Amino acid sequence: MAVDFTIPEDAKEVRARVRAWVQDVCIPAEGRLEAGEPLDDVVSDLRSQARAKGLWLPFVPEEHGGMGLGPLANALVQMELGSCHLASLSMNSQAPDDATILTLLAYGTDFQKEKFLKPLLNGEKRICYSMTEKAAGADATGMQTRAEKDGKGNYVLNGEKWYSSGANVADIAVVMAKTNPEAPRHNQFSTFLVELPNPGYQIVRHIPIMKEHTDIEVEMGATHCEVIIDNLLVPEENLLGGEGQGFAMGQHRLAYGRLRHGMHNIAMAQRALDIATARVIERTTFGKGLEERQGVQFMLAECASQLYISRLMLLHIAYKAENGLDIRQENGIAKVFLAHMVHKVVDTAIQLLGSLGYSHDTPLAGWYTDVRSQRLVDGPDEVHRWMTGKSVIRAFKRDGTTAAAAGGDLL
Ligand SMILES: Cc1cc2nc3c(=O)[nH]c(=O)nc-3n(C[C@H](O)[C@H](O)[C@H](O)COP(=O)(O)OP(=O)(O)OC[C@H]3O[C@@H](n4cnc5c(N)ncnc54)[C@H](O)[C@@H]3O)c2cc1C
Repeated sequence: MAVDFTIPEDAKEVRARVRAWVQDVCIPAEGRLEAGEPLDDVVSDLRSQARAKGLWLPFVPEEHGGMGLGPLANALVQMELGSCHLASLSMNSQAPDDATILTLLAYGTDFQKEKFLKPLLNGEKRICYSMTEKAAGADATGMQTRAEKDGKGNYVLNGEKWYSSGANVADIAVVMAKTNPEAPRHNQFSTFLVELPNPGYQIVRHIPIMKEHTDIEVEMGATHCEVIIDNLLVPEENLLGGEGQGFAMGQHRLAYGRLRHGMHNIAMAQRALDIATARVIERTTFGKGLEERQGVQFMLAECASQLYISRLMLLHIAYKAENGLDIRQENGIAKVFLAHMVHKVVDTAIQLLGSLGYSHDTPLAGWYTDVRSQRLVDGPDEVHRWMTGKSVIRAFKRDGTTAAAAGGDLL
């Protein structure tokens, strides 16, 4: 069978439209924020322009007001959007909302879709996700937050949450809590939709992290919050996906989140390589253009190789998803690879820009500290490698070769 890398015309067309939108409008709009224009004004202006162009919720089916793109076209679009946070916001495609929108679409009741999903689809509300606790991260089954019925049609939740991204700008929180400590480990937890602000969901602080957020990034919801859950009353009708289904909800959500992180990492790395290449073309040292130095060319070549491998990985995953094939192994491998790739490319770009790269006069320094989180978020490297390694062993025992677990079905 021929290996066909042709991208369908409609996918090419939408990628071109999004690329032009990001490059010609969204990236220049970063300057409007730097010049002091309020974030709300810039975002609502961009959103109305984007919607008028039909650029809205690329990953959501058309009957729900989205662009209805399949996995491949969406991957191509996300690989453009990730180079500028305003771009994702402009098309209502920002994290962490996007993955939860998909979970609500798949598992929400009619009532939940009407009340919670609709305003998210319209871009009127934001949503955050509260699973991780200080007590439990990589192994979320250590979660301590409890949910108990009060006999009056509500659950009452008590506990704490850690690293709830964007909780400061969210109107809705998806909160995971233990409903049945006696059930098998993965059936002990349930997922609840919580309206914010809420006296039972108290944001204690924005956790100070490696990347120092600008005021604008805080307003965008780029912060990560520590939360106390104190007698939080949640009506039973806000239980998402049924009792004991918390992990099924979480895995559904995380699977898309991991892929989107990867796609955005490619966009960011591409922009970093462009910034670095533009700089080496204009910069002269010791009487010679940096672009003429072989050592510099090697550095650019290494970044290009990493990006090329990354793109192929994501396109292969998109192909498998388009064809309804199991993507868990490839998704886990790509999640880890792309997190390292973006770190390496941004690091190389900083090196090539020298002190300018270390300054905040380009986005590189901010990205450098930001992307370090990619090796932790949505499951740390080691947990993904653990799962990948187990699949390798399983494949060998089953097939007498590890090929199926190492992309071998490509050949
Ligand atoms: C920027 C950022 C945003 C986040 N946003 C959210 C959010 O919106 N909502 C949310 O609920 N959570 C969020 N998280 C939490 C994130 O999902 C957790 O950090 C992640 O699951 C890891 O948990 P932990 O940090 O508690 O690490 P731990 O569980 O303490 O693990 C620490 C380290 O131990 C090692 N380790 C763990 N298990 C194994 C194993 N089986 N084998 C080998 N080594 C292992 C790994 O090196 C790991 O990094 C966010 C985190 C970050 C950094």
